[in-house]
Amino acid sequence: MKKIKFEYRITILYLLIGGFWIIFSDKFLLTITGDRELLTELQTYKGWFYVATTSFLLFLLLKSHLKKLRKAESEAKKSNELKTAFLQNISHEIRTPMNSIIGFSDVLNSQKLSEKQIKQFLAIIRNSSNQLLYVVDELLEISMLETKNVKVHHDTFLLNKLIDEVDEAFSSMVKNEIKFKVEKSLSDNESHIVTDSGKLRLIIMNLLHNANKYTASGSIKLSYTLKDEMLIFTVEDTGIGIEADKQEYIFTRFQKAHDEKNDTYDGVGLGLAICKGNINLLNGDIGFSTVPGKGSVFYFRIPYVRATQ
Ligand code: ADP
Repeated sequence: MKKIKFEYRITILYLLIGGFWIIFSDKFLLTITGDRELLTELQTYKGWFYVATTSFLLFLLLKSHLKKLRKAESEAKKSNELKTAFLQNISHEIRTPMNSIIGFSDVLNSQKLSEKQIKQFLAIIRNSSNQLLYVVDELLEISMLETKNVKVHHDTFLLNKLIDEVDEAFSSMVKNEIKFKVEKSLSDNESHIVTDSGKLRLIIMNLLHNANKYTASGSIKLSYTLKDEMLIFTVEDTGIGIEADKQEYIFTRFQKAHDEKNDTYDGVGLGLAICKGNINLLNGDIGFSTVPGKGSVFYFRIPYVRATQ
């Protein structure tokens, strides 16, 4: 059935209440007095009572309706701003690798090059293609998380082994100026756990990537501990940190805390939103502490479910 619009509903309700009030209150007054003079006086009070009550009710109704409208308006504004920020970021993130792919393909096509140069240019093209794929993957992941289309696949695995693999993968990409350390706090036997290992690896790698991106030199440390039946993972860096006024936005999608025009800080501002979404799916939570200019510590907790075998 078609829903009647708010303004029509209110007007009909107002007319109905008014009509019933006039008919029944007049009948009621006639039952208590027959004195015409008193009746006129009582009807004046009745009129004032009606105006005061309906004004108050209308005020309450309008207030609650306007509150909802204002909230929706501010959300729409924010979403529009996010959309603009997203379009700016995404164009930059797509254009840069695209330009390099097109540019180097043209060079490969039009010039005589040595084998060494060809290999070098092909590596650049491959790198840029990976960068593009990464952006597309992030967009897909966030849209799947938002439409609740992501499934958790619990598996049994050795956490210490996963950390070793992450260590190996990240050591090959961390900047030369950064010392990378890893600390495991459980024995191999105790680190036999059940959770979604794929998601866990992605979350840790994402935090490590950020640490590498936002640290020029110093150290990055990955560690985990067990406390109150929760595994607490920590990624610590000695990087640029995050200014106080930007801290509350960093888990919001498409929000970046640092200069978007600075090419060293590429990214569309989705990594942490994806991490948070995935950590929530694993029944955990994420937090951070940071000192601008000194570094940041990102930590997240997930339940410790020890494998039975
Ligand atoms: P991005 O792809 O831009 O890195 P993220 O969602 O991963 O997006 O992070 C959001 C913002 O939080 C980043 O743009 C950056 O400004 C800030 N940030 C994240 N990790 C760190 C870190 N380790 N050190 C300093 N700033 C960070």
